[in-house]
Parts: sequence; structure tokens; C-alpha cells
Amino acid sequence: MICRNCNRDIAEYSNYCYFCGTQQTGVVTPRPAGAKRLTRSATDKKLAGVCGGLAEYFDADSGIVRILAALATIGSGFVFGILTYIVAWCVLPTRSAPGVATPASVTTGPAAPAH
Ligand SMILES: [Zn+2]
Repeated sequence: MICRNCNRDIAEYSNYCYFCGTQQTGVVTPRPAGAKRLTRSATDKKLAGVCGGLAEYFDADSGIVRILAALATIGSGFVFGILTYIVAWCVLPTRSAPGVATPASVTTGPAAPAH
């Protein structure tokens, strides 16, 4: 979030700016649209990036997601899991720009007001 007095980037949901001390109550910083979307991962992928995208969405380890997906696929007699994967492959967009700023990583530099 951005301090409404000095416009410096401070921790999300801070009560006070730690640069100038201005109270931040009542400031609601809307999350950027699409900050957390289920996408196929462009970087963490074995096949189409579906499991990697799921892992990114749930902040989970992609290996765990793949194991669970494999178990679910085997447990359902393969067809359901494979169809689900293909549907997800078609439906989910690929994360457009790898390295695009996420709310967690916006901590460096003098950030311009988001709006
Ligand atoms: Zn401030």
C-alpha cells in the first residue's frame, strides 16, 4: 500500500507509515485486478503448466500438486483426471509476463501511486 501522506510504499494493512508516521486508518488499497488468478504457469511446467499454475495459486509446492493430481487421476480411473487436465489446459490463460510485480514483491524503489 502507499502512504497517503508521503506516497512511499509501506507494508500492506499498516496502521502507521513508518517513514512519516501518518496514521493510515480508513485507507483501503484495492488489490490490483487479477493479482491472484488461476493461470497456467509459464515457468513451472512439466507439460502445460497446469499443476504449476495451481501451485502458484495455492502457494503450494508444485511437486505436491503434481502428486495429488496424479493420485486423483489414477484414483478416478485416468479418464476424469486427463479430461480435467486437458480442459484446464484449454481454459486457463498462461501467465502473461513472468516476473511481473506481485503485491508481495513490490517492496523496492519509490513506487508511484497505483491510481
Ligand atoms: Zn508516510
